[in-house]
Amino acid sequence: MIYHDNKQYLYDYLFMKKRESSKYMYGKFHHDTYKFHEAINDLFSDFFKKYSSLNMNLNNDIVNLRNNIVALFDSWIGTKKIEKEFGIKIPLASTPPSIESFLERQIRSYHNKYRPCDICGEDRITHFCHIIPRSKGGVNDEKNYLYLCPLHHHLFDHHRLNKNEWDKIDFSKKMVGSREYADKVILPILKKFWENKK
Ligand SMILES: [Zn+2]
Repeated sequence: MIYHDNKQYLYDYLFMKKRESSKYMYGKFHHDTYKFHEAINDLFSDFFKKYSSLNMNLNNDIVNLRNNIVALFDSWIGTKKIEKEFGIKIPLASTPPSIESFLERQIRSYHNKYRPCDICGEDRITHFCHIIPRSKGGVNDEKNYLYLCPLHHHLFDHHRLNKNEWDKIDFSKKMVGSREYADKVILPILKKFWENKK
């Protein structure tokens, strides 16, 4: 299309951009992996239909096993994306999204209580910030989260934290993969940012 009008161009550009980002209702990662998730759920549903009298412990263990397989698969896709984009290999994680941390989040947001920001201690509002982003297979789990206030969350995601802010983050209890992602992907980008700011 030839544009005779800058305003029309800008409008179309912004509109297309918006459409592009909202193309997938639950995000691109979910979109890409949906078929696999569906297939594995069907597989296990058939199994449970066949063995409907399993005792509860065994039943729960099998459900856990299914969730771990799905998490492993998501993580595998994620590590492949990271390898392709950054040329580094991070270990696989087989941690399914944790129901405990989901419930804790719901309860905290219901009571308007937030964990203090890992960097500045702000506790009027904080977000869950994924270390390995969802789009790269990062899990919804405590061990892949930081608690950050809106400002520090934004700065983290855009690789614009200062060194003293970065140094305040305690990664020691995070997943091995999340720690390596922080160390090998995020830190080098930040180092360049700090260098350019001098
Ligand atoms: Zn903060």
